[in-house]
Amino acid sequence: MPATSPRPAGPRVGFVSLGCPKALVDSERILTQLRVEGYDIVPSYDDADVVVVNTCGFIDAAVDESLDAIGEALAENGKVIVTGCLGKREALIREAHPDVLSISGPQDYASVMSAVHAAAPTRHDPFVDLVPRRAAADDIGVKLTPKHYAYLKISEGCNHRCSFCIIPSMRGDLVSRPVDAVLREAEKLVRGGVRELLVVSQDTSAYGVDLRYAEREWRGRTYQTRMKALCEGLAELDAWTRLHYVYPYPHVDEILPLMAETRDGAPRLLPYLDIPFQHASPRILRLMKRPGAVERTLERIHRWRGICPGLTIRSTFIVGFPGETEAEFEALLDFLDEAQLDRVGAFAYSPVEGATANALPGPVDEAVKQERLARFMERQAAISAARLEAKVGSVQRCLVDAIDGELALARSQADAPEIDGLVQIQDGAAAGLRPGDFADVRILGSDEHDLYGEVEAGGAQAPFPIVNAG
Ligand code: SF4
Repeated sequence: MPATSPRPAGPRVGFVSLGCPKALVDSERILTQLRVEGYDIVPSYDDADVVVVNTCGFIDAAVDESLDAIGEALAENGKVIVTGCLGKREALIREAHPDVLSISGPQDYASVMSAVHAAAPTRHDPFVDLVPRRAAADDIGVKLTPKHYAYLKISEGCNHRCSFCIIPSMRGDLVSRPVDAVLREAEKLVRGGVRELLVVSQDTSAYGVDLRYAEREWRGRTYQTRMKALCEGLAELDAWTRLHYVYPYPHVDEILPLMAETRDGAPRLLPYLDIPFQHASPRILRLMKRPGAVERTLERIHRWRGICPGLTIRSTFIVGFPGETEAEFEALLDFLDEAQLDRVGAFAYSPVEGATANALPGPVDEAVKQERLARFMERQAAISAARLEAKVGSVQRCLVDAIDGELALARSQADAPEIDGLVQIQDGAAAGLRPGDFADVRILGSDEHDLYGEVEAGGAQAPFPIVNAG
């Protein structure tokens, strides 16, 4: 038998992924394409022929982090391709790091690929170059999340012009993916072992408006490209579906009944809404160019909880927005008391370069911003802790993320990965739980962020016919 030489390994690419889940999805798409074209993805600068840095440019801290990451990659490797949101600010990057090979903005996969081709060309392999390669055995591409959950990006860009935000200038106006494409991707992910789908976009409730809610077929049924129809389709799949970045429009009311409905003991749509309210003073909301009818927002929250009592609401707020008075800040604290939100993130206003809010009069002194942020967090911490404490004694269905010694680290329906708390299952290892398993957990204790419990004897281990993560 004639000797054959082994197929040469592909060129090697290092990858640094920064930023939000939308940027993570961009990274997954670039990595999938690199794998399809025969590139090897390597975990160290030393092993890489070239390094791609997917940046974030949302706030100053993210800009600094991105510039640092580019600098580190240049120092350690020398060949660096920059992409992502900060790529829109090429002059800033060139000023700090003139030696980067190429700079492109978010979702510009073609530019990244052509820069990689130039820096590290694939070697010609006559045996396989005519054979189209597949991204992965299950055909869902490279995922940067654990096997049991995945981000599902339904649109790019945003039609709003919130005065503190530069995302529309970086990512453009709303461009929705047709509903059948999203549902097909979700179906493949679930078939590949995903147990939780996290719907992400810049504005999930505006989904489809740019396509005039175009109708498409999926599994023999017609669905509109619209948030409610998308949720109905996702509710057909054997996985949790969690909605992020929902803008507080009235039509959000339409999806609450789906959250209250169950199938095989599981909610058809997770009773969880991630709605960035940002503030509660009507004047500040107007300055932010966001909906300002706070009374109606509170009414709506109460109505939602009436329809779906188990609803979890997560939100984010900005304190110290230009011109915010002490009275307006206190109105925000009153809103927290009234709304009783479950999970809240808050930021002191940070003037992002290019944001129109920077031109507003009355910038708030940094010390005042920080003092308000601390008061805000203290007020909310007590509310979050009380809401968690109220769950002690209940049984919560949880999805296991990891095993840590004796513990299984899991999340209930009320907890999104990375941003919310955990349910620490004390006897998780002894119960034989593995990442990706569902378990019913009796809650025995709580603190400000997390719940603690034990597997409920006789409890179901799966809300869906597919039981185990395998
Ligand atoms: S809704 Fe506002 S904050 Fe969110 S991406 Fe659009 S412009 Fe930015």
